[in-house]
Amino acid sequence: ESQPEGGESQPLPEPAADTSDESVTAGELSMMRKVMRKGIIQSKNKVEILRSDPKNPLHSVKSFEALDLRKELLKGIYEMGFRLPSKIQEISLPTLLAEPAMNMIAQSQSGTGKTAAFSLAMLSRIDPSKKYPQGLILSPTMELALQTVECVKMMGKYCTDITVRSAVKGDMVARGQIVREHIVIGTPGKVVDWVLKYRCLDLRTLKVFVLDEADVMIATQGHQDQSVRIHKQLPETCQMMLFSATYDDEVVNFAHAIIKNPVTLRLRREEETLENIRQMYVECNSEEEKYRAISNIFSIPVGSAMFFCHTKANAVWLSNRLKDDGNRVALLTGDLTPDERVQVLMRFREGAERVLICTNVLARGIDVDSVNLVVNYDLPRLHGTSRADCDTYLHRIGRTGRFGKTGNAINIVDGMSDLRLMREIENHFNIKIIKLDYSNIDEID
Ligand code: ADP
Repeated sequence: ESQPEGGESQPLPEPAADTSDESVTAGELSMMRKVMRKGIIQSKNKVEILRSDPKNPLHSVKSFEALDLRKELLKGIYEMGFRLPSKIQEISLPTLLAEPAMNMIAQSQSGTGKTAAFSLAMLSRIDPSKKYPQGLILSPTMELALQTVECVKMMGKYCTDITVRSAVKGDMVARGQIVREHIVIGTPGKVVDWVLKYRCLDLRTLKVFVLDEADVMIATQGHQDQSVRIHKQLPETCQMMLFSATYDDEVVNFAHAIIKNPVTLRLRREEETLENIRQMYVECNSEEEKYRAISNIFSIPVGSAMFFCHTKANAVWLSNRLKDDGNRVALLTGDLTPDERVQVLMRFREGAERVLICTNVLARGIDVDSVNLVVNYDLPRLHGTSRADCDTYLHRIGRTGRFGKTGNAINIVDGMSDLRLMREIENHFNIKIIKLDYSNIDEID
């Protein structure tokens, strides 16, 4: 019987990948999250453990040295700037490295160190003297797969005897050749082709199989079936792991169909709070006043800021006007290609533009922790109603309150109906939003 441990209440998962805007897929959102992430997210929550044999306790490590890794691997990890294992790594790594190999299902929000954990576990199980594939990682998109290739290569930088190759769109295996690399990282479609159609990839020698971003896989047409077909080719002895940022019923069912006798780890997402956020509003009575308020906000000396608009048309309009007036702004909308979005986010992250203008759907890809001013050019409103969308408000400006990081939020309030929306938000969160004078916004700092 499975037995939960380490947490009294049910974990609150990350909001499921939102695919309501056809122009952004779950895979693209996940990639945007990765691009914006500068480092690991540490959590105060405990990892909850479920396993089939509760009498056999899992141990955790507080250092990478305690894992008894190849010294080349340790060198790689240190060079990546890792000093201590993250929460999920503390428990998952000893389990993943134990003999005999254990299967695992692990859920924690993106940025908590899952990719690094399975990359390390896989690298340490490779026998470099055997020139055939021993590890396979499935990722939902080409971009995510290539990110994982980067991670594995960086970590394995000093393990020069271990070879890695990608299996994504554009990769080819010459006729008559077979894949001999130790680690293959690819998308389900390409891997199915290589295994079943071209028969250039033999999975019978695999020791470790990873299915990453299971929730995004499920949200992507066809990926679940392809993953199951690949899974059928794996030997009984292969260690199986599945990772996911969310854990709804669909993910649970899929996970248990693929992973037999797993140890299940779950790290509850930290709650977002409005503590440490200075919330303000500016009252305007015309589009022109709104624009003047926004222009004045440019004079506030903050690190980076995000401006939220209700519609794509508004965002484009605001961006053009600000640019015409000589301001540097970046614009993120569904009209950009996934590659362009990643480019915009990377430039923003690096500070090339201080202000990012966007709409809601795209903003879910972004980790607001790195932004110190959020401006609601349009207040969030429930679709097709005049009611406030409090969840979106929290998501736009809230942060996980860790390390006492502070932030500022300015709401542009245009007329009575906006004022009502704002009062609704104040009541909902039991907060007071302070009034600012739009002509003198620089008084806030
Ligand atoms: P996830 O797969 O859960 O999204 P990643 O493994 O990609 O998380 O880790 C998120 C970021 O944190 C990456 O930039 C990664 O290099 C870094 N990271 C991972 N583990 C550690 C660690 N133990 N110490 C410092 N940084 C880490």
